[in-house]
Amino acid sequence: MSKRLTTLFLFCLFFQISFGQTIDNAAVLARKQVPVLCYHQIRNWRASDKQVDKDYIIPPGNFKAHMKMLADSGYHTILPDELYNYLTTGKTLPPKPIMLTFDDDDEDGFKVARPELMKYGFKGVFFITTTNILKNKYYMDNIQLKQLSDEGNVIACHTRDHVNFKKMKGNDWEIQIDKPTRKLEKITGKPVKYFAYPYGLWSSQNLPELHKRGFLAAFQLTDLRDPNDPLMTIRRVLDCGYWSTQTLDYNIKNDFGRPAKAKAAAQPMARKPADHKTNKDSSGKSR
Ligand SMILES: [Zn+2]
Repeated sequence: MSKRLTTLFLFCLFFQISFGQTIDNAAVLARKQVPVLCYHQIRNWRASDKQVDKDYIIPPGNFKAHMKMLADSGYHTILPDELYNYLTTGKTLPPKPIMLTFDDDDEDGFKVARPELMKYGFKGVFFITTTNILKNKYYMDNIQLKQLSDEGNVIACHTRDHVNFKKMKGNDWEIQIDKPTRKLEKITGKPVKYFAYPYGLWSSQNLPELHKRGFLAAFQLTDLRDPNDPLMTIRRVLDCGYWSTQTLDYNIKNDFGRPAKAKAAAQPMARKPADHKTNKDSSGKSR
């Protein structure tokens, strides 16, 4: 082998070792999207809740009906590792795969969602804003997070203070991502490999920061995926609190039903929630 070829070989080896497997973004985009649902608070509406809040607050009765509809329709929940392997290698998923995600550390995820998920053999992904842990009675504590993790759910990062990812710079990466990730890993005893953008907001220029930190994938809301980094811009829809089971079914099929071959082919949400940018609901809780 010539010196030049040897150098090239060593460079490629270094690249593989340093950055893991190279991702074929076109192949990722060409695969049919798996529906990913996003939940926040699961509680009855209060008189003070505004209409926009109801995108993010699903009454327990509706949540239970939605889980039953998914089970009755033959959906199987999958976890991020399965989604990652499917998107990067085409590994087979169970029939009618779906992912259920719960943001912010709301205790409703433990008290209301967990028993429903268990009823149907479902697993969920909990994106935790670590400042909320032990904050007050509305949020999950370390023990609850460990239990969810031990029971086969995935605990993942949602920053420390629910900050806007687009505006992060300098020390923010350490404070808002590195330290919270280590905290969650200490609680669960498992690596944290996935991230969700607070408010669903992201910018292409900051995505390399997630790669640098070893994250495998990140979840937004309903923007088009970044064609240069689809794994870091996986789409989710809010299961709005006032949706019927039929509306949810319709949105799952219409928002994720067709392959997105390129940026222009990605589908807008069938029924778009009013505002992802409002960061507080009327009870003052972050989203
Ligand atoms: Zn959030």
